[in-house]
This record gives sequence, structure tokens and C-alpha cells, in this order.
Amino acid sequence: MFSVTILGNNSAVPAYDRHPTSQVVSTNHHTFLVDCGEGAQIQMMKYKIRRSRISHIFISHLHGDHFFGLAGLITSFGLLGRTQDLHIFSPGPLKEIIELQLKAGETLMPYQLFFHSIQNAGVLLDEEKMKVECFKTTHRIECYGFKFTEKKKPRKIDGDKIKAYDIPATFYERLKEGADYTRQNGEVIKNEWVTEAAPHEKIYAYCGDTRYEEKLVRYIKGADLVYHETTYLDNKREIAESRFHSTSRQAAELAKKAGVGKLLIGHFSSRYEKLDDFETEAREVFENTFIATEGVSYFV
Ligand SMILES: [Zn+2]
Ligand SMILES: [Zn+2]
Repeated sequence: MFSVTILGNNSAVPAYDRHPTSQVVSTNHHTFLVDCGEGAQIQMMKYKIRRSRISHIFISHLHGDHFFGLAGLITSFGLLGRTQDLHIFSPGPLKEIIELQLKAGETLMPYQLFFHSIQNAGVLLDEEKMKVECFKTTHRIECYGFKFTEKKKPRKIDGDKIKAYDIPATFYERLKEGADYTRQNGEVIKNEWVTEAAPHEKIYAYCGDTRYEEKLVRYIKGADLVYHETTYLDNKREIAESRFHSTSRQAAELAKKAGVGKLLIGHFSSRYEKLDDFETEAREVFENTFIATEGVSYFV
């Protein structure tokens, strides 16, 4: 299981029952929060997200529509008696902002909060089953996208076949890594005769707020699922560019160039009540495009 649940799909101002940006990325082993706009924890309750499972929060940038829900969430965790550590990654002075908020309220914290400052593109988390990297987008202030890679599992051994070929148990780990087995007489047992390939690595890429930026292709290339902001329709391209945002068509062009599996679009301007045109416009360029709908989970 590797999925993305949308909590908020709007840009700066909440409108038409849409909320500022926030998403939950879930795997069998992790629950990550990506951005935490105002109302994110109310949305979590509405969509039955288990807040206590969130271990890491990734904030793309310090525009309010991406982090104004954070102080509330952190405080609630304390009131709910959380004891496990919480890690927060972000560019800019988020630590100072949040610590001042907590200090002013003399907030009691029964758990430890760790802030990790993002200053460059690179690896943020590298665990046995999951890797999280960040990459810079082009926005009015410093902003990052995040790439979540569910690592490839080892090859699967076929129990009957290894018995039939009489391969010693001491070689099983090497088989899982893909090695061929060579008998003492020089006979080679090909790895693919006795193992099955693991499914390929799965990748979800979240592009934070950004202008159309071709260099993002290299970060999102081949991803199974990509989220890209589309604040405006393409007839507002000039406004989009001047405000360091993208249009629906531009997001689709990037997805097409990067050869991704599926594109999710969001961060809609509050000037739009209906969103159908965003999907229509993007699909003219990249067919497998979907509106990131609040409360819906998309599988990677
Ligand atoms: Zn934004
Ligand atoms: Zn922004």
C-alpha cells in the first residue's frame, strides 16, 4: 500500500469548501504529512486519518497556505498525550516561528519535536523501505518539492525450484540480490530460474508551489504519480508566471516530458468555482490527469 490522501486542494484563500494545501502520504510502514495548511487537522478528522501515526511532516515553503495548520496540529498532539517523536522538515525559520507560538502559550509538550532545516536539494530520509528526497522549485520564496520512493523489495525465491536445483541455504541471500549460483563443477544455475522479480520501485513526487520549470523533469522522471500545482487555467498564463505559479496546461506538459504514470493537479485559485476545465485542459496534453479531490486517496 502506497497512497496519497488529499486534505486540501486550494491555494491561499479557502473557497467553495476547498481548503489550503495538505496531503497525507501513507505506506504500510509510514504516515507522512506533506504541507499543513489551515484546517488540515479538521480535514484529518473528517476523513478518518489516524493523526497519531504521523511521524514526519514535510513543509514545502513558508507561505501560510502551506503551514498555518501546523501550530494547531502540534498543540493537539500534546493535548492528546502523544509521546513519540515528531520530525518536521522545512526551509526558512519555521523552528523559530513554531517555538515562539508554543512558548507564548506555555504549551506543555509531552513529546519531542525535531526541526530539520532544508537548505539544498538532497536526501531527507533514507530507511530500509522508504527514501524521501527534496528538490528546489521556482517560487517567490524558497520552496521545495518532495520525492517519495518505496524501495524495491528483494527478488522472491521459489521454494520448490531451489530444492529441485539443490541450492544451499547459505546462498539464499545472494539469490534474493539477483546472483546466479555456480556449482563446484562449473554448472551455472541462472537466478531467474529460481526467483521471481520484485515489483519495481514506486515513486510519488510532490512538486510544491512553482512556476513552470523544465528542470523539474529530471527529478520527477518516471514517477508513478506526480502532484503539480495548477493555480490557474492557461488563459491566465501571464498572471501565473508573474506570481510564480503554473497553469493546468503547463503541469500537463511537464508530466508528459517526464513520462510519469499519472498526474494529480491542485492548488486551485479561489477565483474558480468549478474545476472541470482544469482537468479538460490538462488532458489535452496529458491524458492521465486527475483533479486532486479532497478526501480521496490516490494509489501510487
Ligand atoms: Zn501556495
Ligand atoms: Zn506559495
